[in-house]
Amino acid sequence: MKRSSATEGVVCGVNGGVVTAQIRGAVALNEVAYVTEGQAQLKSEVIRIDGDRADLQVFENTRGLKIGNRVTFSGQLLSAQLGPGLLGKIYDGLQNPLTELSLKDGRFLVRGQYLDPLDSQKHWHFSPTTQLGQQLRAGESLGDVPEGIFRHTIMLPFTLEDRWEITQLAKEDNYQIDDTIATVQHSDGRQRQITMRQHWPVKRAIQSYGERLKPTETLVTGIRIIDTLLPVARGGTYCIPGPFGAGKTVLQQITSRNADVDIVIIAACGERAGEVVETLQEFPKLIDPRTGRTLMERTIIIVNTSAMPVAARESSVYTAVTLAEYYRQMGLNILLLADSTSRWAQAMRELSGRLEEIPGEEAFPAYLESVIASFYERAGAVSLYNGEVGSVTIGGTVSPAGGNFEEPVTQATLKVVGAFHGLSRERAEARRYPSIDPLESWSKYPSILQPEQAAGMRRILFRGDEIAQMMKVVGEEGVAIDDYIYFLKAELIDAVFLQQNAFDEVDKSSSPERQKHSFSLLQKILERSFEMPEKRAARQLFNHLRQIFLDYNGTAWRSPQFDKQIAALQEALATPQEPKSHE
Ligand code: ADP
Ligand code: MG
Repeated sequence: MKRSSATEGVVCGVNGGVVTAQIRGAVALNEVAYVTEGQAQLKSEVIRIDGDRADLQVFENTRGLKIGNRVTFSGQLLSAQLGPGLLGKIYDGLQNPLTELSLKDGRFLVRGQYLDPLDSQKHWHFSPTTQLGQQLRAGESLGDVPEGIFRHTIMLPFTLEDRWEITQLAKEDNYQIDDTIATVQHSDGRQRQITMRQHWPVKRAIQSYGERLKPTETLVTGIRIIDTLLPVARGGTYCIPGPFGAGKTVLQQITSRNADVDIVIIAACGERAGEVVETLQEFPKLIDPRTGRTLMERTIIIVNTSAMPVAARESSVYTAVTLAEYYRQMGLNILLLADSTSRWAQAMRELSGRLEEIPGEEAFPAYLESVIASFYERAGAVSLYNGEVGSVTIGGTVSPAGGNFEEPVTQATLKVVGAFHGLSRERAEARRYPSIDPLESWSKYPSILQPEQAAGMRRILFRGDEIAQMMKVVGEEGVAIDDYIYFLKAELIDAVFLQQNAFDEVDKSSSPERQKHSFSLLQKILERSFEMPEKRAARQLFNHLRQIFLDYNGTAWRSPQFDKQIAALQEALATPQEPKSHE
């Protein structure tokens, strides 16, 4: 978007975070405008245009703002800045880098202060991977620089259409991100100077790649209930609805540490003001199980507390997905975790109310569904022009009031995602963590187990639950011994396989090999029809089995006695079972 002269406007209405401006000249939807308030220039975005009036959502507190204040339209769409140096950063919703100092006491930036998201002083060691005369498309590599454990590809900007010929290319050396590292020319004669920094409008998907691929490869999270029963795929989408306190944030933290991806991007819209600050203080201390170095090296965090203006929540979600798409262009696998998307939806509701739009269900705007759908649609595995594959996987938490999944945000999300990890209050209260409900949840993606194995496990869980419900009515004595053993089997699966101790050194992340081995042992028990004279003996046997498996899951796994136990169990399970006498 280019205009010869800046469009100006004057504030003619203020309604909370929404400001209406009388404009002279052309403006565009999603264009950035600055509203003058005293010495400050408050950043805002055009969200509605009606003749010579534009409605702006202001990303700052609008206190003191008066009719008659000046507005300057930037001619730029709300954009993210892309380039080396994003990894390890903690940003607010407007991509302001938050410093150590501002994080310590939860104090963020002062109103109207905007910082460069990228360090313009830092030198990066650029190595060209192309030559003069070569023709490039947007998204193709000119060269790269080392960034942490990756090579950060410097690409032809996504905004350039068609093919461009390299007419000048920097030699291998150290450069700052705003130095020209190449000049390219279009066949129509236009020239462009290329730096290591580029901009991209956050509300549009980056599409400089070959084709979209079906998400079919399991994204291993190290969490057994997910990888075996409710898998996520690289390039897929999933949602985690759950009532307050059910374990959504903890689950996302565990996932961010252990998921088999290159880069994790966290968009945190805090439920409580303190929560985000906690995350920010803890995260930099975490060690990456893959590298043994700090996890922040391959993480980007974008935060908003509930104290920040609602408009910033929306921009944080879009900035996060834009950064994810950018790194996907380098052939990397990115996991984007948004916590909680309900906060973002509430911001939409508030804004829509102020714009006096016709409300939909529960006063959310009628376009809630399409906005949520278009956000999750930005996930995906793609094949790049050079044949490499990159992926963006999106997982979002939803925090419906009272844990009622029938509400609009959960329902709109469930329509578009490929997996549903519903957290249950009962399971959380029983401290059955992770508290994902194994019966209500579902996934369309491939498991690390064979399909019949996962189906068999699900069948036992369903039947076990039916018997448990029955026992609530008729008591333990009221059910037959065979049913009781079925119930014990379901409980065993739950206790030793679905539940997982996030605080045990070994159990906190289970490799696919260990998950498969553990399940194959468990399966032998599940397939057996135990001939037990009475329930007490059955219970004792299952308690014993449970202990062996819990040892296997946890730190006891490394003890020598444990190997003997497993060997004995394996031997016992290998001996053929005597036929049932009453059959
Ligand atoms: P939510 O984000 O759904 O509101 P949290 O993730 O903050 O809930 O979890 C609330 C509390 O529940 C945590 O502080 C922790 O004590 C407990 N908790 C949640 N998940 C686990 C887990 N996997 N293992 C152990 N404790 C957990
Ligand atoms: Mg939470």
